Amino acid sequence: MTNSIPNLTLNDSHPIPQLGFGVFQVPPAETETAVVEALAAGYRHIDTAAAYRNESGVGAATAKSGIPRDELFVTTKLFNDQHGADKARPALERSLQQLGYDYVDLYLIHWPVPSQDLYVETWQALVELRDAGLSRSIGVSNFNVDHLQRAIDATGVVPSVNQIELHPLLQQPDLRAFGSEHGILTEAWSPIAQGAVLDDETIVAIASEVGRTPAQVVLRWHLQLGNIVFPKSVTPARIRENIALFDFELSDEQMQRIATLDAGERTGPDPATFVAP
Ligand code: NDP
Repeated sequence: MTNSIPNLTLNDSHPIPQLGFGVFQVPPAETETAVVEALAAGYRHIDTAAAYRNESGVGAATAKSGIPRDELFVTTKLFNDQHGADKARPALERSLQQLGYDYVDLYLIHWPVPSQDLYVETWQALVELRDAGLSRSIGVSNFNVDHLQRAIDATGVVPSVNQIELHPLLQQPDLRAFGSEHGILTEAWSPIAQGAVLDDETIVAIASEVGRTPAQVVLRWHLQLGNIVFPKSVTPARIRENIALFDFELSDEQMQRIATLDAGERTGPDPATFVAP
């Protein structure tokens, strides 16, 4: 199964598995079990964050698995209260300690928090952390076009990814276009809108046409658009369902029908105003 997950290539030439496993809202005490299940199912890319407070469960599961570190791709994120030149390195060092790693594969600024106005300085700090070898690749999350443009103009360094809320109800055409013009891969968080899109009648109809589940249809739609996805589940059957995406395809016509579902509907906070510490 592992071999069937394609890699995409980041703008710094490192490969990233296009499908991974997300652990937002997985309780710390259950994280090791969920990640062990995901690794057994064939996932090799795990998306966590300091703010999820479950990095140690991710690290325990990957250690237990015996899978060589260089066959795993692990992302973590710097949270809103750790912006600034002086705080970024200790924040990443704490994450590495929790994970039990010497490096992460991808380190992201979790939110831009424009009201603090420290995201450009923080981005420069991430460039230095990458150069010091603490993270192989660096990127951002929840950046709008103006945040991306400002960070790039100030540093000359283009983020490898922008991780944003993206699903059929919020298709983010402007951010996706900016990403493809600038070599930034788009990672889609809440790829199935935390389940809210699974009873949509168009999705249900396409699922019946292709003989797959609604979640598989939506995840396949992401993959065919070129998005990176990491659905979250603590349910073993769903963990396996969400990786079984590489033996069917959606037609252009089915992709087009899903394209019409964009309603600009967020399930999470607006990055322009989100300030949670
Ligand atoms: P998802 O869109 O992945 O949905 C997860 C929910 O859907 C859970 O309730 C899960 O239930 C359920 N589910 C999963 N698979 C299926 C299935 N096959 N059929 C029916 N229901 C299913 O939401 P997330 O918000 O967790 O997003 C995924 C990942 O994105 C996160 O884990 C995190 O890594 C990242 N993320 C990043 C953010 C950011 O700000 N950068 C913000 C939010 C998420 P159950 O677990 O009970 O099976």
